[in-house]
Amino acid sequence: MENCFKKMFKLQEFHVENTEINGKVMLITVRPKTKGVHCRDCGRYVTTLNRHLKPRRVKHMFWQGNLIMLRVKTRAFFCWWCQKKDRRRHITTDRHKSIPLNKNYSLVYADQIIKGLGSTSFKTQQDLAETSFTTIQQILNDKINPLVGVWPEGIVISMGLDCHSFSGQKMLPTFTDITNRQLISILPDDSRITVEKFLQDIPAARKEAITEVCIDMDRRYYQTIKRELPRATIVVDAFHVIAEANRQLSNLRTLIQGTDKVKLPKVIFDKPKEHLKPNERVALNEINKAYPELGELWSCKEELRRIYKIPNKTLAELSFNILTNKMKGSNHQPTRQLLKMLMRWQNEILAYFDRFTTNGYTEGVNTKLKTIKRLSYGFRNVDNYIRKALLAFIPISLLLPHHLT
Ligand SMILES: [Zn+2]
Repeated sequence: MENCFKKMFKLQEFHVENTEINGKVMLITVRPKTKGVHCRDCGRYVTTLNRHLKPRRVKHMFWQGNLIMLRVKTRAFFCWWCQKKDRRRHITTDRHKSIPLNKNYSLVYADQIIKGLGSTSFKTQQDLAETSFTTIQQILNDKINPLVGVWPEGIVISMGLDCHSFSGQKMLPTFTDITNRQLISILPDDSRITVEKFLQDIPAARKEAITEVCIDMDRRYYQTIKRELPRATIVVDAFHVIAEANRQLSNLRTLIQGTDKVKLPKVIFDKPKEHLKPNERVALNEINKAYPELGELWSCKEELRRIYKIPNKTLAELSFNILTNKMKGSNHQPTRQLLKMLMRWQNEILAYFDRFTTNGYTEGVNTKLKTIKRLSYGFRNVDNYIRKALLAFIPISLLLPHHLT
């Protein structure tokens, strides 16, 4: 019976002495099972009782609106060996595996809060656990450090980096493990120093394993990544390259629309060639004939799209070189502008063909993060937002210590 009770309330490391129920609070008095402790100075096992300390009161669990509190009897022991040596009294007190030192809650309680926060709001958790916001914040801070991140158990070969916006102006970098499809961290700001700090603190063995980092076409962190992860190849995300080509195409189209007072439908330029309906094909041909610089840019974009489908690096590289050489011969300013981008990112574009890695997963995470932000209307504090978001994504098994299993 007692075992069953202990298991249910996760009190395996204690003897249960007494239980009292007072309204919605159950107070369980427990004492340690051990006869003594290891002396904190010499490490010997000591059993000479010095005195009983004032019992610790800690929050231990909440269960259907009831709070379970522990009253933990704590003892102080005395070490003869150490006293013999230097005549001072060496006192060691009971340590409880499931209750952190200087905290007024147990690890079971912290886990419950963390688990709950993965699926509900701070406010709900606060009400359920009858605790203060500060305690929840403290529990979160103990568990999750964004500058360290939460790394998977497996090896990370491809890492993704992509920024998303928080409260309008602020951009936050998202780091993902593309290999195991998992969020690693969200950094509190997008400064180079913060990104550098994060990369620097990745353990050496992990750094060794990271073979590539997938980014969008942003030069800001380029040198930092090269320096901190010298073994990794930088891959520029394929979708961003196509998106950039589409953006330049769209700019030129609107420019022509404005100067020539014509209507050039956006949709037929954005659509992949193979999805165009016969009438759209005709319209596009007409427009491209009338505006050769637009037609040229459009065919460059389509050629890029074709290249990205080539399943072999050598062939892709060949096609890429043919395309860029052709572009070099163009007199049209828009084509030369696209060429400039392609040449600048040539190595990173071609690096895609090593493993065909994209930032699709990272982008997916950022889209889901937007939903989280919307659902928990307004995080004013960026740290709380990050920790909450990490909780929502990271498997709970990686966050919880295996202290009682
Ligand atoms: Zn000792």
